[in-house]
Amino acid sequence: MNVGTILNAKGRDVTTVGRDRVVSDVAATLAEHRIGAVVVLGETGTLVGIVSERDIIQAIADRGAACLSEPVSGIMTGEVVTCGPTETVDEVMCKMTAGRFRHLPVTDDDDLIGIISIGDVVKNHIAEVEMEASALRSYIVSG
Ligand code: AMP
Repeated sequence: MNVGTILNAKGRDVTTVGRDRVVSDVAATLAEHRIGAVVVLGETGTLVGIVSERDIIQAIADRGAACLSEPVSGIMTGEVVTCGPTETVDEVMCKMTAGRFRHLPVTDDDDLIGIISIGDVVKNHIAEVEMEASALRSYIVSG
């Protein structure tokens, strides 16, 4: 099971925002799509950052409601860790654990082709473990 398999099951839509969008618009986008993070794109459509609900909460805690009318570029994380479609579930779990984040944009030759969250990873990990357990049960019963 790898990232490509997860994308085949969940789809390849990525919700993105421009770097000049204000934080309140981004919060509305997160709420509308019921997601925890959006990818931030620059003028040429390249990935320039990621912003999660956690960044918005931190900015409000630090500076109050004034941050809501500021551009998202001021609160996003610019050094984005990504993964490729052939990476395994174990590899992406390691990246998320090491980086302490719950979202990973998926790129292929610098093209943004999807995004996976910790929820997608856990769901697929459980499916994998259940398949293994079922195969072992069949093996024991048939033996
Ligand atoms: P999250 O756990 O995804 O809500 O994000 C926690 C923090 O990590 C926030 O500051 C995010 O901007 C940042 N973050 C989320 N995903 C990534 C990623 N793939 N690469 C780098 N930083 C990230």
